Amino acid sequence: MSKNYQKETICVQSGWQPKKGEPRVLPIYQSTTFKYETSEQMGKLFDLEESGYFYTRLQNPTNDYVAQKICELEGGVAAMLTSSGQAANYYAVFNICEAGSHVVLSSTVYGGTFNLLTVTMKKMGIECTVVDPDASVEELNKAFRDNTRCVLAETVANPALVVLDIEKFAKVAHDHQVPLIIDNTFATPINCNPFEWGADIVTHSTTKYMDGHAMAVGGAIVDSGNFDWSKYPDKFPGLCEPDDSYHGVTYVEKFGKGAYITKATVQLMRDLGSIQSPQNAFLLNVGLETLPLRMERHCANALQVAEYLENHEKVSWVNYPGLKSSKYYELAQKYMPKGTCGVISFGLKGGRSAAESMMDKLELAAIVTHVADARTCVLHPASHTHRQMTDEQLKEAGVAPDLIRFSVGIENVNDIIADLEHALSFV
Ligand SMILES: *Cc1c(COP(=O)(O)O)cnc(C)c1O
Repeated sequence: MSKNYQKETICVQSGWQPKKGEPRVLPIYQSTTFKYETSEQMGKLFDLEESGYFYTRLQNPTNDYVAQKICELEGGVAAMLTSSGQAANYYAVFNICEAGSHVVLSSTVYGGTFNLLTVTMKKMGIECTVVDPDASVEELNKAFRDNTRCVLAETVANPALVVLDIEKFAKVAHDHQVPLIIDNTFATPINCNPFEWGADIVTHSTTKYMDGHAMAVGGAIVDSGNFDWSKYPDKFPGLCEPDDSYHGVTYVEKFGKGAYITKATVQLMRDLGSIQSPQNAFLLNVGLETLPLRMERHCANALQVAEYLENHEKVSWVNYPGLKSSKYYELAQKYMPKGTCGVISFGLKGGRSAAESMMDKLELAAIVTHVADARTCVLHPASHTHRQMTDEQLKEAGVAPDLIRFSVGIENVNDIIADLEHALSFV
């Protein structure tokens, strides 16, 4: 939108702008393909000479209106939707890496991202060095190599809830002439805009708070437009040298600040095809409309639940960056003064077995793999999402064997606390 609206307004008003007689609500362009009048018109699209829709694997209007809204919320220059958060992180990295490249990865990233980088992308010849998100600048510097192409970390780590010192990471990445990619899923653009602190690319699993209703898996990538790829043509040949698969187009020359997202769309989407369905983008857009309201409630409820747990005699520890006792309280205040997220982690004095039996007694809070939606839910990462990890890897990821991940919803907080009270009475 042209006006400088606040985020609450962007969430409701941005993206689809109906003209006279058009639908008030964003239409679902449920079509694989788009019609043209001449063969030449179509040819120009394929040569990237003109922009326009032709096949939904590359771009779809419903998706693009929603991507535009997310782009505005993050303060970026270009954005795209992907089929999942996994696809978003994969494309964000693979767009600037190839066999022989190297990535610096925060150890506390989401388990799926950790596996993607350390196992699957390794098979593609992309190495990575795992760093402690709390490491000093000197320690971080040691992780970089000549072939390092990016740094990847999360604003608030899932499920370790480590708050990243984004400025520190951005500076280190830039000192080594590479971009910082931030997965901003847990904070959402409502609570943090990593671009304001020097991050270059932001990714999202829109499956979480953005959708907010656990209805659709999805992802997004946003480019700040701030990283000058053309300064380092040797590091980023894919953006700075001609692409033979498009008759020699050079992305940084032809698309300027749109180079990174254009390349990810016309090359990675074309060849790998992890598009979000327009149906899901429509649901995501509905979710986005209430994101600010929900985040406010998630954060308020989570703080109350965290305080309740902290004072409970059967609870051995609570980790929530909004608690004054948290090691990350100061960083959270700096980067997310409005609150971090609705997710809390805690452990019981009875350890892992007490955690498992307590969870079985919860009634309102459901045991699901999902996290970060309107309904309160709970998970034991060591036996569920992170069960493929060794004890050593769990420790590095900040996931204690007794860690319970409790995702506080937007229900009445007294009901959530009563549910915990009841379940804790059994251990
Ligand atoms: C869930 C999650 C992902 C993966 O997203 P999917 O949509 O499940 O593919 C990536 N990063 C973070 C921080 C997540 O919480």
